[in-house]
Amino acid sequence: MNHETGTVKIYFFPFLGGGHQIPMIDTARVFAKHGATSTILTTPSCAAQFQNSITRDQKSNLPITIYTLTLPENTQLPDTDMSAGPMIDTSILLEPLKLLLLQHRPDCIVVDIFHRWAGDVTDELKVPMIVFNGDGCFPRCVFENMRKHVVFENLSSDSEPFLVPGLPDRVEMTRSQVPSFRRNKSEFVDRIKQIEEKGLGIVINSFYDLEPVYADYIRNELGKKTWLVGPVSLCNRSVEDKKERGKQPTIDEQSCLNWLNSKKPNSVLYISFGSAACLPMKQLKEIAYGLEASDQPFIWVVGKILNSSKSDSEIWALDEFEKRMKEMDKGLIFRGWAPQLLILEHDAVGGFMTHCGWNSTLECVCAGVPMITWPLSAEQFVNEKLVTDVLRIGVQVGSREWGFCDAERKELVGREKVEFAVKKLMVESEEVEEMRRRVKSISEDAKRAVEEGGSSYGDIDALIQELKILQTGKDV
Ligand code: UDP
Repeated sequence: MNHETGTVKIYFFPFLGGGHQIPMIDTARVFAKHGATSTILTTPSCAAQFQNSITRDQKSNLPITIYTLTLPENTQLPDTDMSAGPMIDTSILLEPLKLLLLQHRPDCIVVDIFHRWAGDVTDELKVPMIVFNGDGCFPRCVFENMRKHVVFENLSSDSEPFLVPGLPDRVEMTRSQVPSFRRNKSEFVDRIKQIEEKGLGIVINSFYDLEPVYADYIRNELGKKTWLVGPVSLCNRSVEDKKERGKQPTIDEQSCLNWLNSKKPNSVLYISFGSAACLPMKQLKEIAYGLEASDQPFIWVVGKILNSSKSDSEIWALDEFEKRMKEMDKGLIFRGWAPQLLILEHDAVGGFMTHCGWNSTLECVCAGVPMITWPLSAEQFVNEKLVTDVLRIGVQVGSREWGFCDAERKELVGREKVEFAVKKLMVESEEVEEMRRRVKSISEDAKRAVEEGGSSYGDIDALIQELKILQTGKDV
C-alpha cells in the first residue's frame, strides 16, 4: 500500500487474445476509477493495441499505467493480433514477471487464468493473487457439475442429450457441444484449477442481477470467493473509448454509423463471431444466402476465413455478394476489426447474430439487443443456454458442434436455418417483443450495477477494502 495516499497498488496481467485482454484492460481502468493504482503488465505488441485509451485515462488523472514485460531474446509470442487461443503457452514471461514482482511488490496481482504457470510465481514470492477467468458465473457452475456428475463414456452418442444435474435451472446439452478438454481428464483443466486454488478468489466480469442464483451457487455451494465487477465494457463512456476498444477499428466507423442512421430503429441485424473464430468459405456462403433470403438489413463483420483445399474464389465469390448487397442497400460487409460497442448501441440495430463469446454476450445485453446464438468454441455453447433458456433473450440458429476456433466442423449450419432464425428475431412478433422488453430491462440492471450503490460498484470497493486490510495486517 502507498502509505502517503492510502491507495492500494494492483497489477493486472491480461492474456494475449481479444476476448480475455479487452475486459481485463477495462477492469484495470474501472479499479483506477475506484481509486486503486492500476498497472497493466503486458507485452510491447499488446500494449500498442490499447495504449490510446490508457493515455486518455492518464490525461483525466486516473492512476493507471502500462508496464511492458520484455520478452527474452529470440523468443516470440503470438501477440500481434487479437486471436491468441487459450492453449498458447505464455510461460516465457515467467522470468520478466518474477523480476518485476521482486523489484516492486504490488498489494495484489490479478492474473488471467490462461497464464496457467503464474500461480507458482506469486506463491513463491508470496504476492496476493486473484484470478480473472474471462467468463460468467453460469459456465463455471455448469462445468463444475458436469465434471462431478456426468460420465461421458456412458452416453450412447455425441448427439444424445444429457442433463447437467444439481443446477437451479434445467440445463440440457449434448457431448458434441462440450469442449473436448472437458469430456475427459485434461492437463489444461487441471492447471486452470490449480491456479484458481492458489488465488484469494475470482474477479468475474458479470453482475449479480444477471445470474444471481449462479453467483450464489459459486459462493455458497462451490465455496469460491468472487467479486462480480462488470459489465466492465460500460466504463467506456466517450465515443473515442468505444471506438478504439481492443484496438483501432479497421473500418470507417463514420460511414458505418451514417448507414445505420438511414435505417429504422431495431431493423438491422449485426453479425460477428468475435476475435478468434475462423469459418470456412462454404459456411460464409450459407450465411450469405440465408441473409439474402431473410430480406433483413444487416452489418456483417467477416472474421478470418479457414483455409481449405480449394481456393476461396473456387468455392464462392464473397466480393460479388458484398457488392450486390451494397448496391441494393441491403447490407454492409466488413473485414477486420469493427467498433462493436458503437454498432451495438445504435438505435437501428435490433439483433445480434453472435458466437456467444462472453464479452459479446454481455455487450449485447448492455445494449438491450436480443440475439441469434451461434456458438462455436470455448464455453460458448453454455453461454447459449444462459441466453436462450435461462434469460430468454435469444433464438438458437442450431449450431451443434463444438470445435477449436480454427477447426473444420463436420456439418455446416445451412442457409435455411440462418434464414429461419433471422426472420424469427427480426420480423416483429409478440414473442420478439417480449424478448426485447426482457433484454431492455436487464440492460437497465447492468447500468445500475456499475453506478454508485450498485452491486458491481460495491464489489469493487469491497475488494479494494479487503486488500487494504490485508496489507495493513502485513505492515504491523
Ligand atoms: N470485438 C470488437 N470488434 C470486432 C471483433 C470483436 O470490438 O470486430 C470485441 C468485442 O466487442 C468483444 C471482444 O472483441 O469485446 C470479443 O470477445 P468475445 O468474448 O465476445 O469473443 P472471443 O473473441 O473471445 O471469441
